[in-house]
Amino acid sequence: MSLFHDQEALDSIREGVRGLCANFSDAYWRDIDQQHAFPVDFVSAMTQAGWLAAMIPEEFGGSGLGLAEASVILEEVNRCGGNSGTIHGQMYNMFTLLKHGSAEQKQKFLPKLASGELRLQSMGVTEPTTGTDTTKIKTMAVKKGDKYVINGQKVWISRIQNSDLMILLARTTPLAEVKKKTEGMSIFLVDLHEAIGNGMTVQPIENMVHHVTNELFFDNLEIPADSLIGEEGQGFRYILSGLNAERTLIAAECIGDGRWFIDKASRYAREREVFGRPIGQNQGVQFPIAEAHIEVEAADLMRWRACAEYDAGRNAGAEANMAKYLAAKASWEAANVCLQTHGGFGFACEYDVERKFRETRLYQVAPISTNLILSYVSEHLLGLPRSF
Ligand SMILES: Cc1cc2nc3c(=O)[nH]c(=O)nc-3n(C[C@H](O)[C@H](O)[C@H](O)COP(=O)(O)OP(=O)(O)OC[C@H]3O[C@@H](n4cnc5c(N)ncnc54)[C@H](O)[C@@H]3O)c2cc1C
Repeated sequence: MSLFHDQEALDSIREGVRGLCANFSDAYWRDIDQQHAFPVDFVSAMTQAGWLAAMIPEEFGGSGLGLAEASVILEEVNRCGGNSGTIHGQMYNMFTLLKHGSAEQKQKFLPKLASGELRLQSMGVTEPTTGTDTTKIKTMAVKKGDKYVINGQKVWISRIQNSDLMILLARTTPLAEVKKKTEGMSIFLVDLHEAIGNGMTVQPIENMVHHVTNELFFDNLEIPADSLIGEEGQGFRYILSGLNAERTLIAAECIGDGRWFIDKASRYAREREVFGRPIGQNQGVQFPIAEAHIEVEAADLMRWRACAEYDAGRNAGAEANMAKYLAAKASWEAANVCLQTHGGFGFACEYDVERKFRETRLYQVAPISTNLILSYVSEHLLGLPRSF
């Protein structure tokens, strides 16, 4: 069910994505997870089918679809047992380029991103010593002639090994010299093939989920001055302008996960017999599944409200943040219920519950942690005093 959207068009997207995902079985995802590998074949199939270019305008070779349609694509991948975290960067990292890039930059990169010839899977914002406090980032880009020279460090930067380009946020004016702390940061489009080994080093971080994520070190990395996107000093604002769409897409991924967990738990509860009857006949087993279902469906309504606001060209900040909050919470609760319903078998890798359990847990922390959404709602929607 969706508010104000063309249901038939959304259903046909669902069917198309499901058809593609059917070629990538649970065993495929399990194997990728166990090998700590990247699902290259899956990502390539999604790219070739055009799904990752959903939001690139038609004039640049994409499908020019809205947020509602794009959100269904990521939802379905997760609902089919896959992990949209391996593809979502290609869908949304181009927002800053699309909204703030020059005509020349858009013409140069967007058609190649749409065709998959170039991958823009990575965005470098987070730093080890500043975390969520983004305006304190220390990575500096200093203009020297026709180049910027970059020094600093980033952490948790995903999919570098599977990307050609990276959006990078760096300070171009030191924090001490700006009037407002949100000023003096800039966005660059970095050619990773040129950068790695020539001032940029990549250190993978072993972690709980299977998409590759890294520490990045910049030691006098030189990039051409025309790598700057938009105006110097406006980078923080540019990053923020893409966040409402990103948060809504992540909410849709969580909803896909939530539905996968609820289907899986319900099926197991119908089939598994203990004490001579299906475990799902016990209200102690069925009620938590029903509760998780209600919460996923409620979160879905907020996701559609966010899509409707965004696609109508309005500021979807409130709805996008609330959708992300509700959906991440609902998918995590559904994961917990699914694992509990499976008893000991929930821990067996071959049931895929523990893998999806780990994957969905990430959404409480990244790309934005739950507390930061609560602080947005407190300050911007409820007028409570700013806490930081
Ligand atoms: C697998 C993975 C992939 C990632 N991929 C990327 C990527 O591609 N690009 C990128 O730039 N980043 C990426 N990140 C980073 C991610 O966005 C951050 O981890 C996240 O924003 C939280 O920042 P932090 O880890 O520095 O936590 P911190 O900022 O250190 O916060 C730690 C905890 O304290 C809480 N906290 C902090 N300040 C407050 C406050 N004022 N009030 C209440 N609570 C507070 C937070 O909510 C959090 O729970 C990734 C992270 C992970 C784990």
